[in-house]
Amino acid sequence: MIIIAPPSPEYQLGFLSKLQRLFNEGDFTATYKFALMVAMADLAVELGQDDGYTLLITKEQLAEKFIELYWQQATPYSATAVERDLNEPIVESLSLVLAQNKGNQTAIVKNIITFRTTFNPRSLIAAKAIPSFNKLLNSVSATVMKMPVTHLQNLGEQAEPFLYNTLSNGIELLPGVAYCLRRFQPLVQQLSRNGWINHIKGNRLNQPILGEQDDLESFLFGTSRKSLLDISTGLRKISNKCFYCQQTLRADADVDHFIPFSQYPRDLMHNFVLAHPSCNRSKSNALAAREHLVRWVEYIDREDVNLTTIGKDAGTVIDLAVMRAVARWGYGNAAQSSAQAWIRATCFESVNKDYLDILDVIR
Ligand SMILES: [Zn+2]
Repeated sequence: MIIIAPPSPEYQLGFLSKLQRLFNEGDFTATYKFALMVAMADLAVELGQDDGYTLLITKEQLAEKFIELYWQQATPYSATAVERDLNEPIVESLSLVLAQNKGNQTAIVKNIITFRTTFNPRSLIAAKAIPSFNKLLNSVSATVMKMPVTHLQNLGEQAEPFLYNTLSNGIELLPGVAYCLRRFQPLVQQLSRNGWINHIKGNRLNQPILGEQDDLESFLFGTSRKSLLDISTGLRKISNKCFYCQQTLRADADVDHFIPFSQYPRDLMHNFVLAHPSCNRSKSNALAAREHLVRWVEYIDREDVNLTTIGKDAGTVIDLAVMRAVARWGYGNAAQSSAQAWIRATCFESVNKDYLDILDVIR
């Protein structure tokens, strides 16, 4: 087997400048292109390797990501958005769904709304168990292939296919692209999300809906407060201790992302731990240090059944295999750049290759 080396530093710089051009010069009449960038970056982390290989992404895999991304966005955004129970069926206030396009609402959002109002699933996980979900998947994958996949790589007036080749059954990331998407995932996510938020804000159709609230980002990309409450309640039953300092939790506990949300902004059930608000604030956007990683590896294995139950109740994505891939990717990146991992307040250590041995146990 031939091992293809990671792309050269020159290639990586070239990739970043193309990416910058894509966001500056690309024509974003709808938010689809942002969703496609987010989807590719996520899938590169979840399916890719740290080598220079191409990566095949099927149109179904893309469609699933799109449905996940637009699922919450296809519900009404209203003055009480933060308190709203997203697991409740949506039957009213469809006029309060944010426009994802400068003209008519996008086909994908319309399809999701139709599906949700027809079947009233209480969560995306429940929706996937409905036979007609496949129909939704098919129509979304057709739209994804026809719209953003066809147009994303047009910079200015010109086609610049630097990310992928289009195939009949999906896309193939070009050699080195999956590597760069993994390496620069937080940057790609940030650019995509900022672009997405600005697109929603800049769309005059959304002015009457947006009002004065400033929770747009958490509405677009975050887990609903109701789900977080369910997760918090469920995790309390497993243990009433702060995951990090191991001291008893008081009334208020934070649901923390073990692999920071700033690095991998997608909610996976096995990534949630309970922590004191002070411990959570102190850890902030850092990865957790070795002692916490050892504890977490043991925790996701031991509590897999309980975490799965809590995730199902809260409607959160449960995927242990993806979680493992994400953790290996996160600590792998950190070891490469000798990033600082958080031990406790104001106390850090450098991530090194030994950290990866801890994760090998769960391979
Ligand atoms: Zn604590």
